[in-house]
Amino acid sequence: MGLELSKSMPVLPDNETRGGSYFVANYPPFSFWSPEAIPSALEVLKEPPCPGTPLGLYVHIPFCRKRCHFCYFKVYTDKNSSEIRTYNHSLIEELALYSKLPIIGDRHLRFIYFGGGTPSYLSANQLLDLSAGLKKVLPWDQAEEITFECEPGTLSEAKLQALREMGVTRLSLGVENFNDSLLELNGRAHRSGEIYRMYEYARQTGFPQINIDLIAGMLGETGDNWRHCIEETIRLKPDSVTIYQMEIPFNTTIYREMKASGCMTAPVADWETKRRWVQQAFEALEQEGYAIGSAYTAVRNPGRVHFVYRDLLWHGADMIALGVASFGHLKGCHFQNVKDFADYISRIEAGFLPLQRACQLDEQERFIREFILQMKLGRISKDYFMEKFKIDIDSAYRETFDWMRNQGWLHQENGDLLLSRELLLQVDSILHHFFKACHQVQASEGKT
Ligand code: SF4
Repeated sequence: MGLELSKSMPVLPDNETRGGSYFVANYPPFSFWSPEAIPSALEVLKEPPCPGTPLGLYVHIPFCRKRCHFCYFKVYTDKNSSEIRTYNHSLIEELALYSKLPIIGDRHLRFIYFGGGTPSYLSANQLLDLSAGLKKVLPWDQAEEITFECEPGTLSEAKLQALREMGVTRLSLGVENFNDSLLELNGRAHRSGEIYRMYEYARQTGFPQINIDLIAGMLGETGDNWRHCIEETIRLKPDSVTIYQMEIPFNTTIYREMKASGCMTAPVADWETKRRWVQQAFEALEQEGYAIGSAYTAVRNPGRVHFVYRDLLWHGADMIALGVASFGHLKGCHFQNVKDFADYISRIEAGFLPLQRACQLDEQERFIREFILQMKLGRISKDYFMEKFKIDIDSAYRETFDWMRNQGWLHQENGDLLLSRELLLQVDSILHHFFKACHQVQASEGKT
């Protein structure tokens, strides 16, 4: 494979937090996905799957109680229960459309992920109906992991019971911070009392894995408060902790206010401070026996606690994505659904996959996608890329790897490449460097 890779050295971004996205969610960048690519991508769905490729399911629930000031997702805060029931019905219908396609073959789902928005916005009955409808189309009996994202203030004992009944194995609690003033300042709907109460119920309900999400560098964050957040997290003993560094994408309330006031620096901590805070959290968690499994996650018992969704997807799994604006990946093609609620419902009613844009990856792009996603794990297996893509990554990225080694950022261990903690904490800011030259635009768009 002739590789068209950049020979220049990575340029690290400015230390100030400015408007725009820093997090790299996928490759090629979304600006290279297009409606024109849909017809050829649809042809791929008529082919059988690649043998041995795992299949997962992502279900997007776009409802929230209120919009957080840092949120860049397309969310709806005004839908009534009849609209939600219609939406849930459309999700089941959408899965039925996929299930008839040759690309699904006779595969079983290996993972299911409910993301949002706020999946826990749905009532217990809506959740049970939705999961029963989805299972009827494609069974979950062989799924290794069922993840469900929750906003603590939307939970109740009955809903947690319903989630367990559905088979949820990982409950992911969007805690973000333990300080009520900060939660209020950032526009979050929940408060700390709900976190503690629901965490306790969730533990009693017996979920195999409970994850706590935190954000380092929210509006109003201080060193003392962040230390308190780490202490509280450790006291609760979650099975895993996910920490993101606050970014201010363009379509957020915070960015709009920055623009209106003519200030281009966001009113949150700079990148160096946010990295220091994440490092502080990782160190404290490591002292408690957690292992750092990626740029964003610490895991209490790595032998037992896994992230099947992340690991399969980052190693090229297929994933059907249901719901408004959701992203899927099947046999080397990216798909994104339409972003408008009414448009989504009407396309499903008409019996069509509600696609807005697609992107068909060539072999080199598939390699780069997996490579940059696996960089986020902090460990890259050279043998994996040689076996799967016949690419020697040392030769492909020789100059960049030499530069990274000179910085003390890259080491070798038993044939694997290991990223230093310093690099891991800012890995998203250098991933663009590994893109094809034609894709090296600064990511400047939100997820939806
Ligand atoms: S950040 Fe999460 S909870 Fe807040 S509005 Fe966005 S999707 Fe909803």
